[in-house]
Amino acid sequence: MSSPVLIDLRSDTVTKPSAQMREVMAAAEVGDDVYGEDPTINSLEERVAQLFGKEAGLFCPSGSLANQLSIRMLVAPGEELITETNSHIVRAELGAGAVFSGITTRTWLADRGLLSASDALNIARPDSGPYLVSTTAIAIENTHNFGGGTVQPLDEIKKLRQESQSLGIALHLDGARIWNAHIASGVEFKEYGKYFDTISVCLSKGLGAPVGSLMLSTKDRVIKARAWRKRYGGGMRQAGLLAAAAHYALDNNLALLKNDHKRAKEIAIAIAAVAPKVINPDHVETNIVGLDISSMKITAAQLSEQLKASGVLASALGPKYLRVVTHLDLTDSDIEKVNQVLPQLLQRALVS
Ligand SMILES: *Cc1c(COP(=O)(O)O)cnc(C)c1O
Repeated sequence: MSSPVLIDLRSDTVTKPSAQMREVMAAAEVGDDVYGEDPTINSLEERVAQLFGKEAGLFCPSGSLANQLSIRMLVAPGEELITETNSHIVRAELGAGAVFSGITTRTWLADRGLLSASDALNIARPDSGPYLVSTTAIAIENTHNFGGGTVQPLDEIKKLRQESQSLGIALHLDGARIWNAHIASGVEFKEYGKYFDTISVCLSKGLGAPVGSLMLSTKDRVIKARAWRKRYGGGMRQAGLLAAAAHYALDNNLALLKNDHKRAKEIAIAIAAVAPKVINPDHVETNIVGLDISSMKITAAQLSEQLKASGVLASALGPKYLRVVTHLDLTDSDIEKVNQVLPQLLQRALVS
């Protein structure tokens, strides 16, 4: 007997390009992008920049690079970027801001990563003189990955923009999953774009492209970031093949995110029915279900092993934190199985 196919809920990055996406990729017009001659990349950069009301965009092989190029444009060596404690930029980019750009960081902790402008402003220290570090930028993650796919409240973003601008502090949006935020909140991309000096977005998450992110900002910053991308070894040649997948994802997969959100909510409801302390379904707004199992004896790694034995993959991201992410490549019967297996295992853990 062959082993059953695992249902992979570790991340929305695990999707594989569909047959139609591959067809579009194969047919893409390409050129040498280091010479600025790839028409499919050029049109993607223009398209996404326009979508967010920005002057220019830069195609990048990863969201981490788009984030790093962005903050490099805003923060000089020895200056400070502040952000939430569990944000990707400080937890999941291996110290790149320090390694490559000499950027120091301080963080504030927010429940579920949820933005409150005052949390950021309370620790911001612009123009600190010759003795203390000066804050020159703030990074906001929307949706917040390790916070459980949290959608940031627009009112807090507006308030933060108003007050940070008057302090001379720039704002960066880590919008790896801004697509999910838009679908959940109905807020237009241009509206989000208004409040940030630099933006990173990923096509390789819920939208289902195999590779690709963009950094968005002013023409000036994007010209500088293009040189830094090359310096970091991120200059790509006929990468229009990848940009074509990104175009396809924007054309076809954006509207499908609402299914991911619906399924994540269903999973949360099924879990809360047996283990209400583990997840509040009202907190599941997008495609990420963050399970807090601190009330249980079992560890996230143990639960993840048990799940795997039952055919489901999840991510143990902390000793007591397990993440489940819905995405494009799941079927209804996958979700049905997850909704049986996960509550069953949690119930078993509760009584043992
Ligand atoms: C995935 C992700 C990124 C970028 O990740 P890469 O793997 O480098 O593409 C950045 N920010 C957040 C919040 C993410 O979830």
